[in-house]
Amino acid sequence: MNALLDELLSTLFPRPCPLCRKVILHEQEGFCAACLEGFQVIQEPVCSVCGYPLEGKTEPEGPLCPGCISKNTPLPPLYTVRSIALYTGNVRRAILAVKYGRQAPVAHSLSVFARDHLTRFFPLSGFDRLVPVPLHPKRLRAREFNQCVLLARPLAVRLGIQLDLDAVERVRHTLPQSASTEKERRKNLKGAFRVRKVPRIEGQSILVFDDVYTTGATLDELAHCLLSAGASRVAALTLARSPGPNIS
Ligand SMILES: [Zn+2]
Ligand SMILES: [Zn+2]
Repeated sequence: MNALLDELLSTLFPRPCPLCRKVILHEQEGFCAACLEGFQVIQEPVCSVCGYPLEGKTEPEGPLCPGCISKNTPLPPLYTVRSIALYTGNVRRAILAVKYGRQAPVAHSLSVFARDHLTRFFPLSGFDRLVPVPLHPKRLRAREFNQCVLLARPLAVRLGIQLDLDAVERVRHTLPQSASTEKERRKNLKGAFRVRKVPRIEGQSILVFDDVYTTGATLDELAHCLLSAGASRVAALTLARSPGPNIS
């Protein structure tokens, strides 16, 4: 009966796809099928540490990407990262619509997309908190909102994980990524985050969330900050990741 009612309602009030604005005829959450086809989802095998797509090539010593090998990443790593899609095409369009257009329906649809793909990478039951990468108050004032929070809020609801917006804060204002080299950026980021509410982090399993992975420097710094405050486990999820090589 409910399915019939849903079908009737969607015929009477068809919902447009938040990205292409075309009417979605069959009731479904998120983007239309045509837009989803333009999402380049990252498939296994991926680097076991940073989630970089390996295109079938795995190293004899284990599934590590050239970037993690060149950085002498310790094994097992302190934390792991997984990204859902390449930062190109429709995923890029959708993220930019949230970042610069503050489009909440697009953020909701991205959270549906993230939820549908997340369990491929992480068994979700273990996480206590979802922590979006915080912006410095200065940047927050200039931009008026944190796009990461806009994306993380519906995701936390869909995953049933507690969203934590103030256990950790950004205490150093850093230059936008494009303005500095990788080395300068890592130096700038040292001490960029501070845990304000230690009991919310101590002994907790934390899933950090960011929209786009570029060099991983921000996530590295935040993960170290959380682990030094006593987090029992840290993993990071990003919606997208830049498709270029990851050797710095
Ligand atoms: Zn569409
Ligand atoms: Zn890697």
